Amino acid sequence: MNEFSPRQKAARVKLLVLDIDGVLTDGRVVYDDSGREIKFFDIKDGHGLKLLQRAGYAIVLLSGRKSAANRARAQELGITALIEDAKVKLPVLEKIMAQLKLQPEEVAYMGDDLIDLPPMRACGLAMAPADAWDPVKQAAHWIASRPGGQGAVREACEFLLKSSGKWDEVTARYF
Ligand SMILES: [Mg+2]
Repeated sequence: MNEFSPRQKAARVKLLVLDIDGVLTDGRVVYDDSGREIKFFDIKDGHGLKLLQRAGYAIVLLSGRKSAANRARAQELGITALIEDAKVKLPVLEKIMAQLKLQPEEVAYMGDDLIDLPPMRACGLAMAPADAWDPVKQAAHWIASRPGGQGAVREACEFLLKSSGKWDEVTARYF
């Protein structure tokens, strides 16, 4: 534990790493007759990520599973850093941090299940949706009031932007 508040931790973040299932989605997967996966993403979450991109943040989507729906969503959001099938996430996160030359304090990670605990512990700001599994919420520095796939990511984006003082600049065109 250190003395910094979640807001102070958020002010230093330059990279947001997001789990997909249960964070960018509500965690449910529908299969059609051909076995193709259908997932629900939130358009408001997407706009939050566009605001982060506008402010110069790096975004990485890091999933333990593999799905065409993930790739379609990443493409629509203009996120080129999509890593799938990462059953062990911490080494992947460490590699990303090394490539981008980022310190742990400059990284936020949002996850909802046990697979996310190691990367959450390794970064400066651990975030979780409201419906994350209990040990994950206990490990989080910041918890959204909304569940995964229903605004949790949008809240996280706004928290980062407001904590760093970039919110007014990236939303000026709307007000
Ligand atoms: Mg998940």
